Amino acid sequence: MSRTALSRACYYMRRPHITVAVCICAVLSVPAIRYIESLRCNTFYEMNEPNARATPLQIAPTIPGHVIFDRDSLGWMRRHLQPPPDKPVSASFCLHLLRLYGKNATFQHPTLKTGDTILAVLTNDTASASFFGAPHSLRTTYGVRFPSDKSESGRTALEVDAHRDHTLAVLSELGVPLSFPVTVNNERLSLSEVLKDSIATFHLQQKELAWTATAYILLLPPHREWTNRFGERFTFDQLISELLSRPLHKDSCSGTHLLVALTLAARANDINSFLTEPMRLRLHRFLDAAVTAACETQQADGSWLPTWNRALHESASPPRSATIDGPIDRLLVTGHLTEWLLYLPRQHQPHLSTFERAAKWLQAELVKALPTKDDAVLCPYAHAFGVLQTLSPDMPPALPHPTADG
Ligand SMILES: [Zn+2]
Ligand SMILES: [Zn+2]
Repeated sequence: MSRTALSRACYYMRRPHITVAVCICAVLSVPAIRYIESLRCNTFYEMNEPNARATPLQIAPTIPGHVIFDRDSLGWMRRHLQPPPDKPVSASFCLHLLRLYGKNATFQHPTLKTGDTILAVLTNDTASASFFGAPHSLRTTYGVRFPSDKSESGRTALEVDAHRDHTLAVLSELGVPLSFPVTVNNERLSLSEVLKDSIATFHLQQKELAWTATAYILLLPPHREWTNRFGERFTFDQLISELLSRPLHKDSCSGTHLLVALTLAARANDINSFLTEPMRLRLHRFLDAAVTAACETQQADGSWLPTWNRALHESASPPRSATIDGPIDRLLVTGHLTEWLLYLPRQHQPHLSTFERAAKWLQAELVKALPTKDDAVLCPYAHAFGVLQTLSPDMPPALPHPTADG
């Protein structure tokens, strides 16, 4: 501390009323600044009410054919992929259950009795606080948020979204309309408030973009642009360009969520054109290269390694997962990657044999892995089993019903 600062501190200590006055001013200034900030943001927000679809676009897998599985084996797997009745589960676990079995599913669980109950737990803060130990939703200046940052939420990690806009994206995939009720602080709002908060705080440089993009692709077209709280406008061309620039090997699950978002964009653009022609062509060129890389890197046993995407980023730095290739990592990547392939537009689809080899490997791995599965984790198993259900003609599909169109 400098001599001047020291003598100033001694001066204030001898005059406590000045110290108290300074402290009061400092404390009062924080809420004042927050209030001014909220006024500024509210002004922008109300000027830019997002144009969105009442119900999300539904984009189902397009598969080249069916693979025959042993029904008993699939039934056995399904019995292992249930919410554990005696252990806490996370919001991410709930979202994977919903994706896997749908809103009409029933479960042998004291609280999560049906898919609709899971939906209610995720969208009502009293129910989520009771189930997870802290609420899954949060009222914000701009609407409602399902926080993905633990510091924004509560006391546990269970209630937090694993990825930014994870809940919004999954509910959109399931076809939940924006009018669906979301209750926060006893206030009955709707899912559209969650989209509003997401758009208000959107930025192209946000760390995770795959789930945000998935939600926007399903919820915004035919509208081509949206505006955040600073009045910055964004188009789908900009969003797709940013997704294409992100190295797959640095993203979650070996980049497969980025690939799913890009694939959904290509499919949705065929229904409601929202990309310029140069961007549409660029997107399809990339998908073509990605499918070629996937087919070339499929292992002889039908699986994929976490490093499968290296060929797409040869000049890139070493992949995050370069040294991770345990059985669960390979199960996670193979399940995710095959699921992505199921959504490709028909002109990019690999031969049925690619699916058959992958499915055969996934089935064998699940038989080995499920008896010792960690009850807290569902993701690697859920994507793998979802693929088997979708490819099987005898099982109700895990993902939305396959369609005949592209
Ligand atoms: Zn994943
Ligand atoms: Zn997952």
